[in-house]
Amino acid sequence: MSDNSTILKHPKGRELLSAWKALSGEALLKAVLKERSLKVAVSSSFGTESAVLLDMVARINPAIPIITVDTGRLFAESIAYREALTKHLDLLDVRVIRPAESLVANMDPDGLLYQSNPDACCQGRKVMPYAMTVAGFDILITGRKRHHGDGRQHLDVVEVTGAHVKVNPLAHFSADDIEVALRSRNLPRHPLAEAGYPSIGCQPCTHKACPSKGVRSGRWAGHEKTECGIHTFL
Ligand code: SF4
Repeated sequence: MSDNSTILKHPKGRELLSAWKALSGEALLKAVLKERSLKVAVSSSFGTESAVLLDMVARINPAIPIITVDTGRLFAESIAYREALTKHLDLLDVRVIRPAESLVANMDPDGLLYQSNPDACCQGRKVMPYAMTVAGFDILITGRKRHHGDGRQHLDVVEVTGAHVKVNPLAHFSADDIEVALRSRNLPRHPLAEAGYPSIGCQPCTHKACPSKGVRSGRWAGHEKTECGIHTFL
């Protein structure tokens, strides 16, 4: 556990962590969002499963900041879905973070960095602007799940990473649990979900998934890369 974490300097920090680790799903989210002495934000890609977590957040506190990165390479369908879901759920504070235009122009003048060095492309377009934004928060809530595989199989509901605590209320949710939640709440679907894209990032780096290879198999296909880095940069 990192000593840099703000929560460890909080008078009730260890007590809170211990209590949160015993919870999951909406109960965990409620417990975290009622803690007003810590700065909390939700990190969301507005991807195919994001509506489940965002719907829970909206029902508890729609004014919680939602941080999402627009790299400039997203599918048009993803941008339209972000706007539609924000409206549907009445989310009051969605913060769309973009990389600086000058940085992109210097780093990726021909727009092909994703081919030659996708790690550098993600670093500049996504990780850096995200890191600068979340530096002002103590707790980051994410929608990551174990069933996505790759490095996520052993994801805990609460992680202490550097200065942040990451809370993953859906860590134990299966694909079926997500489907049940989407149906029971009649939540809008990402338009590309039914077209064979169960996990969606930037348009140049997202392909249809191979069902036998997992939900995220269409991401950076042909590269060793499995994560953009916003959840692993620390
Ligand atoms: S997902 Fe691809 S296009 Fe998007 S930032 Fe990463 S490498 Fe660049």
